[in-house]
Amino acid sequence: MIPTAARLTIDLDALAANYRVLCEIVGGVEAAPVVKADGYGLGAALVAGRLWREGARRFFVARLSEGVALRTALGPDRQAVIYVLDGYVSGAGPALIGANLTPVLSSLDQVRRAEMWAKSLGFKPIVALQVDTGMNRQGLTPQDLTDLVREPEPLASFDLQLVMSHLGSAPQPADPRSAEQLTKFRPLRDLFPEIPASLAASAGIFLGGDYHFDLVRPGISLFGGGPEERPDPRLKAVATFEAPICDIRSVEAGETIGYGPETVLAKPTRLAVIAAGYADGLLRLSKGKAFAWFKGALRPIVSVTMDLTSVDIGDTPAAPGEWVEVMGNNAHIDLLAAAARSVAHECLVRISARADRVIVGEA
Ligand SMILES: *Cc1c(COP(=O)(O)O)cnc(C)c1O
Repeated sequence: MIPTAARLTIDLDALAANYRVLCEIVGGVEAAPVVKADGYGLGAALVAGRLWREGARRFFVARLSEGVALRTALGPDRQAVIYVLDGYVSGAGPALIGANLTPVLSSLDQVRRAEMWAKSLGFKPIVALQVDTGMNRQGLTPQDLTDLVREPEPLASFDLQLVMSHLGSAPQPADPRSAEQLTKFRPLRDLFPEIPASLAASAGIFLGGDYHFDLVRPGISLFGGGPEERPDPRLKAVATFEAPICDIRSVEAGETIGYGPETVLAKPTRLAVIAAGYADGLLRLSKGKAFAWFKGALRPIVSVTMDLTSVDIGDTPAAPGEWVEVMGNNAHIDLLAAAARSVAHECLVRISARADRVIVGEA
């Protein structure tokens, strides 16, 4: 039977290999995988399950609901620490306790509300604190944190186990902002000399040991995204996205392709029309810029529509049912992302449920 649907292959052995590479780079520092957005779209239970086997014992998610789902998936025998980056959101108390989740308190308001919650419990809940060192997105301001430490009351209600911040420019090593954030973070983490600290996500890991502190939080590099938003030979593609050819068409110079007048062929072109489009998660903006891999070469992606994408295959022999790789070890996710003016993270989380999923490697 000729295949007609796109296929996403998730390679758990590649995931494990990437985790080991990152652990090696940070030496003895703990690497706590970030599995938010359902494990970057690949399945948080699947990803965390394999990483647990590789020794990961702390995980980060964004939403409370993701934390609850991950706790259920890990089950009673795998007692991981699960940090919820959204922190103490209103009404979160019962779910945080029920699923034994650790909120990352990220504003003064959250600290105040979590303090009332903590006092109602009769024990000190485990929490983490996030301070904003320059990203201006999430975290207490340095001033708020400093003030908070001077007031003994609020923090005494918690069992504080991590102090963290997040870098905004780590994929650009030449950008001075990472060093500025590091300089800002040091005295803030020193307000809590006994408490482990964390600053680096994937890209930060590659900035060097000064950025590692006690715990790093890799996300995209676990899945093969390179540290500078460029392919890195040390990392393997975990997600391979392929689509079968449905049709091959030869089109004259001057003809338009797909919708609207914008894609006009400059020369006669042989196109493979493949069964994947933006409804499967391909980024529409990648057309005219990105390349797909077919029979040993990268081929220009000419058009992306909802269900179908056209690839210029030149005079290479091709037949319906043959597979074209849109993302994987050959058509690198970082190049695909750059072509669509995006990041590898978005390419992964966009992959939709319509594509068939195949899991390879040990669970
Ligand atoms: C998403 C996120 C990470 C992981 O980032 P990657 O770039 O995928 O490694 C780490 N820390 C925080 C606070 C995040 O929001």
